[in-house]
Parts: sequence; C-alpha cells; structure tokens
Amino acid sequence: MTDQLDEHTGASDSQSADSHGPAVRRLADWDHGQLHELAGRFDTPVYITDLDRITDNYHRFDAAFEDARVMYAAKANTGQAVLSRLIDEGVPIECAAAGELDRAIAAGAPPNELRYTAVNPPGQDLDYAVDLWERDAPGLTITAGATDTLDRLAERGYDGRVAIRVNPGIGAGHHEKVATGKDAKFGIHHELVPDVVADARERFNVVGLHAHVGSGMLTDDDLDAHRRAFERVARVAREVGDLEFVDAGGGFGVPYREDQPPLDLSTAAEQLESIFESVDARLELEPGRYIVADASLVLTRVNTIKEAPPMGEPTESDSTAVGEDSTTVVGVDASLSTMIRPAMFDSYHPIRNVSAPHRDSEPVSVGGPCCTSADVFCTDRPVARPDRGDLLAIGNTGAYGIEIASRFHSQPLPPEVGLDRGDVRLLRDGEVVADLRNRERS
Ligand code: PLP
Repeated sequence: MTDQLDEHTGASDSQSADSHGPAVRRLADWDHGQLHELAGRFDTPVYITDLDRITDNYHRFDAAFEDARVMYAAKANTGQAVLSRLIDEGVPIECAAAGELDRAIAAGAPPNELRYTAVNPPGQDLDYAVDLWERDAPGLTITAGATDTLDRLAERGYDGRVAIRVNPGIGAGHHEKVATGKDAKFGIHHELVPDVVADARERFNVVGLHAHVGSGMLTDDDLDAHRRAFERVARVAREVGDLEFVDAGGGFGVPYREDQPPLDLSTAAEQLESIFESVDARLELEPGRYIVADASLVLTRVNTIKEAPPMGEPTESDSTAVGEDSTTVVGVDASLSTMIRPAMFDSYHPIRNVSAPHRDSEPVSVGGPCCTSADVFCTDRPVARPDRGDLLAIGNTGAYGIEIASRFHSQPLPPEVGLDRGDVRLLRDGEVVADLRNRERS
C-alpha cells in the first residue's frame, strides 16, 4: 500500500496560493526536518503553532468578506501569543467569558473594541464586564441571549451597548454538539426577538443582532443551512431596524481530511453579503476555527506497537491468531488530555509518520495512555507503518485543541512552541507531574 497522505499533499492547493498563503495547509506541507528538531528540543507531546499562518488565514478571510468587519473568536485558541499576534494586526476580539476578556486585554486588545458574548453568564463574569465598561470601555458591546441576562446587566447599572442573540432555529456544522443555531440554549427565538429588542431599547443602547449557526461548516448542505438561518436573521433585522451591525458569528470550516477541498470563501461571502444587502447595518463576523485550525499540530512519540487479534466474538477459526484481520495498536504519549476533539466530537485529524513518511502504509489504531476506549486518535487508518520511537504528527489541532486540553489521567499540560517570522520560541511551558498538585490541599 502506498502512503495515502502523499497522494493528497495539497500540491495543487499550494499552487493556488495568493498573497495570504494557500487556502489549505496539509500535514505533509510542514517541514519534517524542523518537526524532528523541535521534538528533540522540546520533547513530546508538544503543540507546534505557526503564528504566521494565523495572520495569513485571517487576512485571506478578511479579504474575502470585503464589506464585513471581521473579529476573531478567542475561544478557539486564547493563547497569549495567538491573541497578541492578531491584536497587533488590528483584529478585534470576540470573547465569551470574563477569562477571555481578561486574556485579550492582557494580550493588548483595546478594551473599547471588545465584544462579550454572554451565554448563561456567571455573576462574576457579568461583574467583570460591567466593571470593565465603567472603568475603561464605554464602547464594550455585550451580546445577550436571554432576557435574564439583560435584567442582570440592568441590575448592575449597565445601560451601555447591547446586541441581542437570535436563535434562528436552524443549525449547521461538523457535529450535532456544535450546531448551536437550533439549540434552545443559545439566543432568543427569532420570532420573539422584535419584542425583546423593543423592551431592551428602554434600558440599553441596542446596537446589533447576533447569531451563530454552528461550527465547522464545509459542505454545500452546511452553506445552505447557513443561508436559510441568516435569511431569518435578516428578516428580524429589517423588522427591528436602526441597528449598527448584524454579527453572523463564526463557523467557517477547514478541511480536516486530506482529500477534502477547502471552503469556498468567495461563495460563502457572496451568499452572506447578498442576504444582508437588504439590511441597513454593517455585517460582522467572528470566525475562530478558520483562523487557527491548520496553524498547529501535535507531535507525539510512539511508545508501543501491538498486534492484536480481532476483538469481535470468537469464531470457529482461530480467534487469537495475529493474521490478516488483526489490528495494529500504536501507543503514543499524547492522549485525549492533550487533544480531545476525536473523543469529544468524533473528529478526524490527519496523522503522519514524520519519521518514515514513505514506508508502506498499514491500518493502525493510534491511542494514548488514558484508561478509556475514547482515548484514540484514529481506528484502523492507513498510516506509514510506525515503529517504536517514531515521531507522529497529528494535524489541524489549532482550534479547540490546546484550548480544551485537560489534566485528565494526571497528564501534565503539554508545552506549545511557536514559529514566529523565522524564529522558534516557547509559547507555553509544559507542566511537570509535580504541577498537578499545585493548587491542592490534603
Ligand atoms: N461565535 C460564537 C458565538 C461561537 O459560539 C463560536 C463557536 O462556538 C464562534 C463564534 C467560533 O466558531 P468557529 O470556531 O467555528 O468559527
């Protein structure tokens, strides 16, 4: 079997590179020599984040949506280096928690330009936002998705800028757990919004509407759902009138599979911009994933190779023999604590044997040290046959990767290394086992 990844290295994608880099970056496009060097220097597991790719992704996206104001949704990756790189480029930051507001400000964000999207906000988060508004940021905009949130803001003396989050009743995205547009948890039903806006106008400066339909849109079906959802939002915007902006959220996908084409940004932009032609308000967007997903990978070292017989019900034939239908289990030092997306969303992440990309491929299941069957990065997937000690790269881990990393199974959080205009620098120290006890008392 040949190395399938090599057949999909994205060479043609690279040829379509514009001034903001190619529309898609495949795992095979990374410099393997450098990855080896970094793994040797910083050990594994380790996140590698290319900050230059992040700015390229932002500018490519921004150029496609000519008429829109494009923010960055910090939740995809709130690393200080990621935020400060984008903030240096003048990118406004959308935050969804007090912690994100705080980290954005620490990274240099002008407080007045921040957007705070409050979803069932804890009291201390509202306190933080209102305090920020009073002290430093009269231009802060708070997006509320429930009348309770509006009441709680008013109780705190807030009468500043507010956007109302619309639930359009239509979701889209790579997994049902991220199709927020049809989840009652998010926003106010589109038919109720005009009354809520009328009431809110008595108490606040209502400047916008907001909706986020889902995350990881890539297919025509996703785009179709997106269009239908925003036709509803546009209808509400026309009805309520007198708005500064309509924020159409994020959700723009990247190809995780090696043979998936990238999202056609110009089609997505034309679609949204034509819907909002009839709305007298600026279009705003807040992509997260698109900006950071393909800018990072995880390097992990193989520590175990095990041939296992088929695991199904025993058959008449010898069920314990290692044969054609046996499974090769590849144990690595990264785990679902390092990168949980496959376990949490069944997400596909490309995997490449960086030590031997040209070895013949064979189906392998790659898993980490955690004692749960969910701790697998792939099952029976062709990868250039790994040996113990080989270095594997897990691709497209920049969005919701290190951001959702945990210490489950007493795994110290991994370090993150940045590639920054030709320099290599540590963006986050990795933890050591003793750090796991730092805040505990016996
Ligand atoms: N805006 C809101 C309100 C969100 O909830 C999210 C993701 O959950 C985003 C923006 C970013 O979405 P994505 O990373 O898919 O672009």
